[in-house]
Amino acid sequence: MPRSTVARIDLEALRRNYQTACRRAGGAQVMAVVKADGYGHGIGPVASALNSLVPKFAVACLEEAVAIRASGLEQPVVLLQGVHAGEDLADCAQQDFEPVLHSVQQLAWLELSDQRPAFWLKVNSGMNRLGFHPGELGGVMIRLEAMKASERLLGFVTHFACADDAENTMTADQTSVFEQATASWPGLMKSVGNSAAHFLAGQPLYDWSRPGIMLYGGSPVIGKTGPELGLEPVMSLEAPLISTRVVRAGESVGYGAGWVADQDTRMGMVAVGYGDGYPRHAGTNTPAAINGRRIRLIGRVSMDMLAVDLTGAPEAREGDSVELWGRTVGVDEVAACAGTISYELLTGITARVGRQYR
Ligand code: PLP
Repeated sequence: MPRSTVARIDLEALRRNYQTACRRAGGAQVMAVVKADGYGHGIGPVASALNSLVPKFAVACLEEAVAIRASGLEQPVVLLQGVHAGEDLADCAQQDFEPVLHSVQQLAWLELSDQRPAFWLKVNSGMNRLGFHPGELGGVMIRLEAMKASERLLGFVTHFACADDAENTMTADQTSVFEQATASWPGLMKSVGNSAAHFLAGQPLYDWSRPGIMLYGGSPVIGKTGPELGLEPVMSLEAPLISTRVVRAGESVGYGAGWVADQDTRMGMVAVGYGDGYPRHAGTNTPAAINGRRIRLIGRVSMDMLAVDLTGAPEAREGDSVELWGRTVGVDEVAACAGTISYELLTGITARVGRQYR
């Protein structure tokens, strides 16, 4: 019998979320970001489910692009971090991977490589993680011309630092820096726009947008849940109730004995913990659900189990399945209780948890 702590993945919901991204992309084409093992959902099944809809995938690194090819998919794959070694450029050229080049070192590798892939240039419009400063772009273009690599250049990419916050003016500032930086090369494509940018009124997304979290139903917008933005949960994390008992008023539960019952309380132990990727910082009052009813965690999360208060679900029995997040309890809610974001929860589910697809 496989362990019944599972992440159920609804691939139809994933496809509908992709279509929502397309509707919100204002005419831009939409590449699906499937890095970090498809945000924890399994890169092969996720990319395969999107195959008939998606013209391009985006991942962080070469190994992830190779995983897409291993699933038999043929679309171009954008490597958002470029390459980490010069010899990888030949692999990119052979396999239709499009690295986003962001450093002088990567340009030097391109110069030396006898096989050159189609590629993008990253512009640092203000986030200051990766990319060429707008003032460097002219020199970079001259260098590409000199090494006869310009004809492989597809266009320019930038990334927003604060698009999750509609009130923050930095996105508009970055957009105008990016527009000015690239204005001298109007024939080349432009790509801005993580998921959050699809929800910003008036935000141009140019030729290609790059949504990730919204495809998986997580909210990219501060203060809103995925469903409030019209997104459907894709992953449902479920684990069985393996024990129930009544703790008497004054007794504690779990490590640290920090939660103490103020009245006799029927509680249950659920077979999931931080060893499965459930966040240890989600403590008392974090929601979960059983048989469609919302219940709450009590005490500390252990490596392999956690405790729930069954007062709200008197019918619950050992063997029943508990939803840690999914359709009844949003992953965004659990993330907020754990002081993190849905991205971290989804990508953090460990190999011990089986993925089941439908
Ligand atoms: N583009 C780049 C360069 C990224 O690094 C990411 C994610 O980190 C994305 C797009 C997708 O972002 P999101 O998941 O917020 O849509």
